[in-house]
Amino acid sequence: MTTKQVQPLYNQAGQLQGVFIPAEIWFKHENNLEKILFPEAVSQPEIPAEPINDWKQFLSFWDFNYPVEKGVKCDHCGCSTPDWTADDPKRFLLKAASLGGMVSFLCLECQYRVTKKHFKDHVVYECTPFTCRV
Ligand SMILES: [Zn+2]
Repeated sequence: MTTKQVQPLYNQAGQLQGVFIPAEIWFKHENNLEKILFPEAVSQPEIPAEPINDWKQFLSFWDFNYPVEKGVKCDHCGCSTPDWTADDPKRFLLKAASLGGMVSFLCLECQYRVTKKHFKDHVVYECTPFTCRV
């Protein structure tokens, strides 16, 4: 690409408005140029979808002897949140929620699996390497 092929474009006041790139050159390099010029549009951070409907269903059947709480803590790295749904950026990724009271998360800090087991009167946390099946 030579500078002669890329022409500056000025408005009537003589201010530089942009550059003109011949279509032939643009289309030849389109994919690469878009990645360089608009990286945020091309590469979205890959956060897997969370089973939010399972979570909502879990909440709608909440019949434990304590109010709904959304706290999560990781015993492995010490990461914790009072409300995992409100974190920005996310600290815990919801992996599963069952009506039986098991809710599991991926700790985005250390990649451990944090499982919250809801019993009638209390919650038990379990923290395991994510590769282990609970
Ligand atoms: Zn952790």
